[in-house]
Amino acid sequence: MVAAIRFFGPFPVFCRAVLLAIVATRSALAGKWCVLAGKWCVLAGLWSSLAGMQVMAQPPENAKNGGLPDAFRQLEEWLPTPNEYRTASGDSGPGYWQQRADYEIDVTLDDQRQRIEGTTKVRYHNDSPMTLRYVWFQLDQNIFHPDSVSNRTATAAPLGSRVPFEQIQTLLLSQNFQGGYTISRVASSDGTPLPYIIVDTMMRIDLPQPLQPGNAIGIEIDFAFNIVDAKQLRARGGYEYFEKDKNYIYEMAQWFPRLVAYTDYTGWQHKQFLGAGEFTLELGDYTVRITAPADHLVAATGVLQNAHEVLTPLQRERLEQAKGHDRPHFIVTPEEAAENELAGTEEKKTWVFRAENVRDFAFASSRKFIWDAMVHRMGEREVYAMSYYPREAEPLWSRYSTPSIVHTLKVYSRYTFDYPYPVAISVNGPVGGMEYPMICFNGPRPEEDGTYSAGTKYGLISVVIHEVGHNYFPMIVNSDERQWTWMDEGINTFLQYLAEQEWEENYPSRAGEPASIVGYMRGNGQVPIMTNSESILQFGPNAYSKPATALNILRETILGRELFDFAFKEYARRWKFKRPTPADFFRTMEDASGVDLDWFWRGWFYSTDHVDLAIDSVRLYQIDSGDPDERAERKRLEKQSREPSLSAERNASLPKLVDQYPELKDFYNQYDPLQVSDDDRQAFERFLKSLGDDQRGLLKRTTNFYVLDLRNVGGLVMPIILRLHYADGTQETLTIPAEIWRRNSSEVSKLVITDRELVRVELDPRRQTADTDDDNNHWPPRLLPTRFELFQARGGGGTSPMRQAKEREAKEQAAKEQAAKEQAAKEQAAKEQAVKEQAVKEQAVKEQAAKEEAAKEQSAKEPAAKEEATTEESGKQESGKEQKGASGQVGDGGATSDG
Ligand SMILES: [Zn+2]
Repeated sequence: MVAAIRFFGPFPVFCRAVLLAIVATRSALAGKWCVLAGKWCVLAGLWSSLAGMQVMAQPPENAKNGGLPDAFRQLEEWLPTPNEYRTASGDSGPGYWQQRADYEIDVTLDDQRQRIEGTTKVRYHNDSPMTLRYVWFQLDQNIFHPDSVSNRTATAAPLGSRVPFEQIQTLLLSQNFQGGYTISRVASSDGTPLPYIIVDTMMRIDLPQPLQPGNAIGIEIDFAFNIVDAKQLRARGGYEYFEKDKNYIYEMAQWFPRLVAYTDYTGWQHKQFLGAGEFTLELGDYTVRITAPADHLVAATGVLQNAHEVLTPLQRERLEQAKGHDRPHFIVTPEEAAENELAGTEEKKTWVFRAENVRDFAFASSRKFIWDAMVHRMGEREVYAMSYYPREAEPLWSRYSTPSIVHTLKVYSRYTFDYPYPVAISVNGPVGGMEYPMICFNGPRPEEDGTYSAGTKYGLISVVIHEVGHNYFPMIVNSDERQWTWMDEGINTFLQYLAEQEWEENYPSRAGEPASIVGYMRGNGQVPIMTNSESILQFGPNAYSKPATALNILRETILGRELFDFAFKEYARRWKFKRPTPADFFRTMEDASGVDLDWFWRGWFYSTDHVDLAIDSVRLYQIDSGDPDERAERKRLEKQSREPSLSAERNASLPKLVDQYPELKDFYNQYDPLQVSDDDRQAFERFLKSLGDDQRGLLKRTTNFYVLDLRNVGGLVMPIILRLHYADGTQETLTIPAEIWRRNSSEVSKLVITDRELVRVELDPRRQTADTDDDNNHWPPRLLPTRFELFQARGGGGTSPMRQAKEREAKEQAAKEQAAKEQAAKEQAAKEQAVKEQAVKEQAVKEQAAKEEAAKEQSAKEPAAKEEATTEESGKQESGKEQKGASGQVGDGGATSDG
């Protein structure tokens, strides 16, 4: 599955007596195991015990070596002791066995009541060396029962002052949905009813006679359950209802009672289904008859056996035509699907599928499906890559889904083995991403208008690669998902990264590059990768990205591609259609690459340490030629180059006693310790004569001996990758294997001998190791300038009652000022008018007086009086203009302080 999907689920209450009985039965069985298998069983017990694992997760500290753990201590004491089933090389042993379960199932999909009813007939082959008196079945649908252990142990969801509607709807539904199985009949194949007991998501069926090694038994179970609304309750299968056209898409998974795996390493896999740990299943052949509404298209694990009964002649012809295309080819076109959506019928059809050597069976059914197919050739075989999706998934799905399937088969097969199944299917429905043999469910869809983001596009391609990729791990390499999530998710995410990088240049992969795991590795809230699925914190980074990145680092930096790819392929080959454990993976990778990787598994898989290596200092050593004159000259220069101390400088001018009383001076006042004597020179000559030519040559060398002091800050030992820059502009890269830390996992010094002058050193310059702190990776320390952006500081940011009040006040103030201004202007105008009127009056009076004067004088004095009156008028106009300009400025200033 993809990490984003979580399983909310219900759980049945069972009386304490039943639970106690189960515990007692289990320990009794374990006791028997121990007698038979001896010492191995004790170790296997430790191996599967999470608590034991964590207590032991660090090697013992040693007070006499600085309390340092031994990062290279071998893992033998943690791994199960090799035995005839699983060998020390990581391969299966001569006594390897696994059980087999063949199923014949009849199931009816009720599209009216969203309900499944069916009968499963299992042929269970006991290929173990043990006699079995009972068998266990997984009843995973019981997780949806309101009283399931999963439901009852769900911790409180965060409820703040704001909660999305969907969250509350989901919470309420998980309390009320009547999920879980109704088991109406359990019988042997001859019809004899068999006693059984249900323990949460498990069911024990007691056998009429003990099942001897090498024998098989037939068991029949009638079952029914209500299908969960997978859009409301996050589930690995369920239905989606489309309000617009009143149709459903069903994605049916974990839908029938499945045999619990019985193994050499854990007996019956008793871990209840709590939602995170997926499945541990037996391989077998399936014949499944699915009865669904006659207008539905059914997609399923396996090959359709009755195409002539359920497909139209046209559809069958198009399936045949698909063989001639290297592009997806519609079997049901969008137009035909749109028409089909309107249909609806009371009639039913039964689809028959057969699948060989699979661990599970899933199917999808709807009348909404568009269907495309493309044939991918693997040697002689033809594999049908097919996609089923509603129109809501277009135009994204017809473009990307099926090509992504084919791309996955190509890339994954190259790194593992040829895809062995005849079909590979991707279905769009309510489930975000979940895998089953030959079929997977993938969620991404475009917006309603058909547009989509880059995230949706690459999200779809990546999820199809991921879920189709799960065919290899864990459908075929059948690891125990209920115990170890990383064995399928981590390994699959690693291959997903390789496939994505072959899709297009700079494909935006979310996991794989070491730099992208740094944030998680540095942070808190972590448990080791080697933690049971249900106890994992930060599920995605822990079980997907971190192991994927670890494998990528192993491939690129520690083993190299050639060694890694060989060993990885060998692991896939050895465990194809078998059950590997973590130890089988760790051991095979070492066995086939020839490299001891215990330190790597210890650091990356069993601890929460992170990588942070640092350059502490760089020291330079050079050869002393031994020549006394050279040595004296060098010391003199050193002395001269040293600045006098402050006191020495200030004391220099003080009068000295020996100058006042010269008789106080003696031999030592003249003695120069750096003065070379002839005795010294002769001694050096004698020394040179005693040496051979090689030794004399060495004394003349000007080679530089640089000692690089390195520190392991993060705890995880890793190779040291150094790029050395020299004064002559050249550079070289040293890759020092992690074994340099084998005696001291905290501090090491590395000698670099060179005739060149070292000016700069970089640690891990290409970010290969997931080093979490780049600041201490440089000598001399590097100054990294950072830009800061300037912005206008504005009080507060958002609005507040106080701010609103202030704004209101400012507005009122502005209105008041405006009114006052208008009033003042009015008054001014009135004043001016009055002045004008006064002036006119005065003028009139003056004119009258002048007239009278003129009349009196009646001669040459008349024009002078007229000129004087004109000058006075223009002066008044000037002063009025200035006043107006000043009041305009006040207004602008007010506006600025408001903003
Ligand atoms: Zn997955």
